[in-house]
Amino acid sequence: MSPAGEPGPAGEKLLDVVDLAKTFPNGTRAADDVSFTVARGETLGVVGESGCGKSTTAKMVLRLLQPDRGTVTFAGTDVLRARGRDLKEVRRGLQLVPQNPQTSFNPRLTVRSSLEFNLRAHGVARRAWRSTVDDMLVRCGLRAEQGDSYPHELSGGQLQRAAIARALVTGPDLVVCDEAVSALDKSVQAQVLNLLAELQSDLGVSYLFISHDLSVVEHISDRVLVMYLGRVVEQATAGSLYRDPAHPYTKALLSSAPGAPGERIVLTGEPPNPADPPSGCTFRTRCPWVMDTCAAERPLLAVTPTGSLAACHLNLTSRPALAAPSPA
Ligand code: SF4
Repeated sequence: MSPAGEPGPAGEKLLDVVDLAKTFPNGTRAADDVSFTVARGETLGVVGESGCGKSTTAKMVLRLLQPDRGTVTFAGTDVLRARGRDLKEVRRGLQLVPQNPQTSFNPRLTVRSSLEFNLRAHGVARRAWRSTVDDMLVRCGLRAEQGDSYPHELSGGQLQRAAIARALVTGPDLVVCDEAVSALDKSVQAQVLNLLAELQSDLGVSYLFISHDLSVVEHISDRVLVMYLGRVVEQATAGSLYRDPAHPYTKALLSSAPGAPGERIVLTGEPPNPADPPSGCTFRTRCPWVMDTCAAERPLLAVTPTGSLAACHLNLTSRPALAAPSPA
């Protein structure tokens, strides 16, 4: 597996996001110079608490939201400036599996009609629709005849499988899964994660997998990006991140997961107001290791002794000694 910050296992860079920034009219800084890459066939997990900017980032990648600055390059095309045929190809190659399948399907259309709509939008000949839809439904663990069901006739898990089929039916290169299993029961969640992994190995598709749940991301990701208050605070291979987290925020998130070994690091307080973030390191108001420098200087992402990237002053100097501070 490649080092953090570099393209993943397959090597070829498919998505390249550079310095993406977005501030909403109410002053909320939802994304602050977010940069990452996704390689062909790779899964990049993006985690963080609600409101950290992960879904905003996904929307900008999909061109559903215009960033204030930054670039998104997909398969060599400038996504934010693409027009005509190039834009159509970007739309086909970049697909979305949203969080809630109940609201993402038109209740008046059968599942088959929704999938066919996607094929029609991308110029696939009508004679190929039935076989293409049937094949994708079966690949996604449904029966072909379930395509003739209306959304309310399927369970939540079946409908999410249909949503995955809808995303994959156009043969995309990259699928953005935005909290795609968060609404499902744990047992169904595991089945859908296994399905996504199988489809990736069969079709070679890449995933940008967004979740607030670190344990979900662990099972599917090659690399993981951790966001806090609109910024990337850590980027690492999944193995390195879960074995040896470099940033205090990641360490705290992992320590609070159910069944996590070792001492729990309790974060006090809520995340600060994103419209008025703290100076320097935005995590400093909740960080157990905060130092004077943290208020004065914004820590930039830098390579740690384990090969990850982390934005923390402490990380650069005393990473091996990083452990929960003793209560005063
Ligand atoms: Fe904590 Fe300072 Fe590191 Fe921020 S820079 S995570 S406040 S030690």
